[in-house]
Parts: sequence; C-alpha cells; structure tokens
Amino acid sequence: MQDYSLDAYWMPFTANRQFKSAPRMLVSAQGMYFKDDAGRQILDGSAGLWCVNAGHTRTPIVEAVQRQVAELDYAPPFQMAHPKAFEAAERLAEMAPAGLSKVFFVNSGSEAADTALKMAVAYHRVRGDAARVKLIGRERGYHGVNFGGISVGGIAGNRKHFPVGLPAVDHLRHTHDLARNAFSRGEPEYGAEWADELENRILTLHDPSTIAAVIVEPMAGSTGVLIPPKGYLKRLREICDRHGILLIFDEVITGFGRLGADWAANRFDVLPDILTCAKGLTNGTVPMGAVLVKPDIHDAFMAAAGERAIEFPHGYTYSAHPLACAAAVATLKLYQDEGLFERAARLSPHFEEKAHALRAAPYVKDVRNLGLVAGIELESRPGAPGQRGFDAFLKCWEKGVLLRFTGDILAVSPPLIIDEAQIDTLFGTMAEALREIA
Ligand code: PMP
Repeated sequence: MQDYSLDAYWMPFTANRQFKSAPRMLVSAQGMYFKDDAGRQILDGSAGLWCVNAGHTRTPIVEAVQRQVAELDYAPPFQMAHPKAFEAAERLAEMAPAGLSKVFFVNSGSEAADTALKMAVAYHRVRGDAARVKLIGRERGYHGVNFGGISVGGIAGNRKHFPVGLPAVDHLRHTHDLARNAFSRGEPEYGAEWADELENRILTLHDPSTIAAVIVEPMAGSTGVLIPPKGYLKRLREICDRHGILLIFDEVITGFGRLGADWAANRFDVLPDILTCAKGLTNGTVPMGAVLVKPDIHDAFMAAAGERAIEFPHGYTYSAHPLACAAAVATLKLYQDEGLFERAARLSPHFEEKAHALRAAPYVKDVRNLGLVAGIELESRPGAPGQRGFDAFLKCWEKGVLLRFTGDILAVSPPLIIDEAQIDTLFGTMAEALREIA
C-alpha cells in the first residue's frame, strides 16, 4: 500500500485533517464492487455517490467513451454542435417524463440546479413578467454547491462561509416527521398538509406574483432519504399552478430508476415544469447533468429573441461534451437493454424487507425506503451528534461495504444491478456493524 500524501491534494467534501497520510483509497471497480488499495473487495452500497446505477466499468459505456475520445475529443458548444449531442438529447427526451421534451446539457447536478433557477427567472422575464424573481426552496433540500443551489438549498452548514447568496429566496419546511411516520414503508402517511405552507407563505409573506419558481427534490436524498408524504407533491403542483409559479424537480438522485420507476415525477405522477438530472445520466463515468423543460418554456425564449440574438445567455465550455454525450447514449441504452428500472422495482420488496429487519439492530430509530433507496436513522450519541453515523460508516467500510452517511443517518442506494444475495449481505453487514459499535 502506497502512502498517499495530502501535501498537494485538497480533498473535496472531506474532513482532510482526519487523514494524517493515507485516505481511504479506491483503486478499481467492476459491477457491484470496488477494490481498495489493500486489494479488498468493497460492496458498493451507495452506487458511488448515487450515480453508478448500472454498476461499475460496464463494457458498453467504457467502449463508447473510448471510441468517442479517439474520434472527436472536444467540440466547442459556442455556435457549433456535434452529432452525439443530438443523439444524447433525443434519447434523454424520449425517456423523459412525457411533456419535458427539451434538453439543456450541463456538467453536474450543481450546474443543473443553477441553470434551472436562471431559466425560471429568465422565462418569466422574456414573457414580460419581470416581477417574478423570487425562488422558494426547502429546509433540508440539497441542490449542489453553487451559489444558486446553496441559496435555495436548506443546509445551513453549506452556507456557513457564504453569508451572501441569492437575495430573494425563501424556504418551506422539510417533510421529515419521525413522531408520526417512523418505520413507514414507501411513502409516509402523514404530512401532505405541509405543502399548504407554500400557499400560506406566498400569500402572507410575499406577493404570489413575485415568485418565479419552487424547487424541491421529490425525495430529499443527501440530507437523509426523506420520502415525500402521500399527496404532498401533488399539492405543491396545484398551488404552483394556481399562482403561475414554475415547479422544479431536482431529480439528480431520484432520476434513472432509483425509486423503482424511471423518474420520481412518474413514480408520484406529478409533472414539474423543469427537471434537473445528472449522476445516473452517464452512470457516473463522465461528468454531466441536464435540465429538461416543457417546450413552451423553451419556445418563450425563442419567441422573445431576434434572429441572431442568443436567447438564453448561459452555457459552459464543456456543455454537451462529446465524451459525456457518448457515455450518456451508452448508459441510457444499457438501462433500457437490461430493464434496470424494472429490475429496481422488482427487487424493491426484498430490499424493503431486509432494510426493515434492521429495526432490531442497536440504535435504529427509523427505517424508511422506496425503490432501491433506504435511510436508516440512528439515535445520536449524547453530546456527539453525527458520531454514531460516522462510526457505523467506518465499521461497514472495515467489513467491506461502502455506504453514505449524513449525520446519524445511513443511506443505502446500491447500483440497480444488485441481486438478492447482495442485498442480504448489505443489510446483514450493517446489522453486524451496528452490533459491534454498540
Ligand atoms: N442535487 C441533488 C438532489 C443532489 O443529490 C446533488 C448531489 N448529491 C446535486 C444536486 C449536486 O450534484 P453535483 O455534485 O453533481 O454537482
């Protein structure tokens, strides 16, 4: 094992100081497994970071990227295009929730969120409704780390060093309610009425005609797998419709089969006006995100601009990057060829059973699940919130399972190629880990 020095490398989203010299290292991956630098097999219980939905180093994706880099490594997206961008957009639009047929490519979930917010504000403006500038997010929402995303996001820690953000934002309450919904399976029964807070707030604290958009993750992932209460998203949709407000779904985690359906929008039968995705779009291989919009949003920009005017002055050097487009085309085809979203739906009852069996393990105060995602909430160690979640994460890692944790909540979101025996190993290892740290 090589000793990796942190002299030069500043690791993102990591407590760098805990690593005196050697961080936990992953050196290769295949299918359901990573390999670490000691040669251990690590069962991937988090699909990387909610992104490797088809499993690791899948041949069709690897070969598509290899072919693409040899043929066209880069093409400027400024007044130019390349064939793979069209193919990727067409494939994505084809499988998008019906009605979201226009695709704007970006490079990450964070960029997708900021792009969607800019689009929403600009859309009202190009239609002559320039008063609509305010954006409403939600407590415990995560929309990436750019300034727009952290402003509408609901994680105070992510704003800690950034007292300035977007000036006109507000936040709804999150939907987590342990007292009424602990150990619920699928959508929790209680809490749809929290959607009404949107109407109350815009009528009492704002003028509804000043609100551009509401942005939510249909299921909040990064802050602990918070599944929306039955009827909640429908009510949000109705309120937005009543007041001419755009509804944005951030499906960076929930897209591409995670909830046992292609999209959360379809799972919950609620169509947003704008949908952001990333992660599973390329199976995590090449950075890419996308913003999907209803055609009338796109058309409003076209109608408002002259022949040579840039309708939406936004984009990135790497928007629709050829390698990302090649990876996306191969990934979306693989999802379809292997029926992975249907597979996720098929496996979800077994996954649910095994997840809820953890109820008997030490410290477990909630288990919640939908499709192939589960959140296991642990009792916090007195005086040390987050420590127990971290200890459990470390113990699972020692035992050869990679999970994600948020404070004292463990998130389980394996690649959709997982089988029943691997599901048993995943939750069995978690139970052992919890017993050992007890
Ligand atoms: N939105 C959501 C819902 C996410 O889960 C994430 C990443 N976890 C992001 C946005 C940000 O994506 P990225 O890290 O690719 O910028």
